[in-house]
Amino acid sequence: MLTFIPFEEARRIVIDSVSTMESESVSLDYSLRRTLSEGIVSHDTIPPFDNSAMDGFAVVRSDVLAPPVELRVVADIPAGTPWAGRLEKGSCARIMTGAPVPEGADAIVPVEQTRRLSTDAVLIKTKPAKSAHIRRSGEDIQEGDVVFESGMVITPGVVGLLATLGIAAAPVRKRPSIAIISTGDEVVPAEVVPGPGQIRNSNGPALAAQAISAGGEVSRVLHAADNQRSIRDAAEQGGEADVLLFAGGVSMGEHDHVLMVLREMGARWLFWKVKQRPGKPLAFGIMNGKPVLGLPGNPVSASMCFEMYARPMLAAMLGRRQILRDVLPARLTRPMKKVRGLYYFARGIMDEHGKDGGRSVRDTGPQGSHLFSSVARANCIIHLSEDIEDPAVGDRVFVERLQW
Ligand code: AMP
Ligand code: MG
Repeated sequence: MLTFIPFEEARRIVIDSVSTMESESVSLDYSLRRTLSEGIVSHDTIPPFDNSAMDGFAVVRSDVLAPPVELRVVADIPAGTPWAGRLEKGSCARIMTGAPVPEGADAIVPVEQTRRLSTDAVLIKTKPAKSAHIRRSGEDIQEGDVVFESGMVITPGVVGLLATLGIAAAPVRKRPSIAIISTGDEVVPAEVVPGPGQIRNSNGPALAAQAISAGGEVSRVLHAADNQRSIRDAAEQGGEADVLLFAGGVSMGEHDHVLMVLREMGARWLFWKVKQRPGKPLAFGIMNGKPVLGLPGNPVSASMCFEMYARPMLAAMLGRRQILRDVLPARLTRPMKKVRGLYYFARGIMDEHGKDGGRSVRDTGPQGSHLFSSVARANCIIHLSEDIEDPAVGDRVFVERLQW
């Protein structure tokens, strides 16, 4: 087992230890935020036929080069009902937005640029440009185009385009199921009034929410007391999940049994302790072929380690194209305390449009790993690499948007 390794190395180990989930098909109605498991190739041409972009009149353009010109209205073409005829010179067709452009027509004159003379005669008042207001077949997508690549996250826009292409069910990766096990004799559920020395369980609910936000599915949220029996029971109950996430009980204390109990159950710990703050006691291993993260119990550490390790791990399991969030440069507007040699994930408040037009950021205030309001108020994580010491106002740092 490796110990006290650098952050980037630890994260690489985690990401490289997992494999992608199987594929399944999901109705578009339930596909939002899922991850495509295949590239999508269009079997259609979009738009499928030439159609009108306006309510107006389909004309033979050479008839109306010197307006005003009176034309005979020979057809009425609503959307959804093609007209089988052919437009001859001197005639025009009333046409609605989205209706197929009839043969012979090569421009549309919007209704606002015409005057009705009778039921079957109209005055065209302006000269249309070539192909005016005709939306051409294939302008958007050609048959055979690769429209989306495997590993893309499905957005509302993707949903719309898949529907346009006739793909009513999307091929996606199965969601990794996650069992979350908080630990601690002092920890009681949120609905319980804490007794002397007790605190409410925030890790369970927060990590469950993070798991969902990262594309996972929460199979169980369990709590184990600080004894070997209770930890073993919880690990067994959570064992069906694709990922086991422990919180607490991974430090050096007398009552920190998680590593030992899981080792007895067959876990192989790949590393324990990382050169980072918060979250130094983080542990990662494989048990029954599945990843196990032993997150530190301090709520700030647990949540930040989730973002730094579990989120990219889940992204890898989902076969996502982008495993890591973008990190963006920003100017620091308040000095920070930092020791050299540890990688920091500070909670920050970023202003995307600062005074000088650039991105600026400050920390959320005191950064103690028990101060969870620093997480709740943050809109970004400030990355401070090992070599940085006490960054000053104006220093360029890197931030990761916390869109979760
Ligand atoms: P541990 O890693 O178990 O030593 O816990 C570190 C700190 O986090 C202790 O102060 C615990 O009381 C606290 N803690 C552990 N688990 C939770 C939890 N589920 N919710 C809130 N605080 C916790
Ligand atoms: Mg504990």
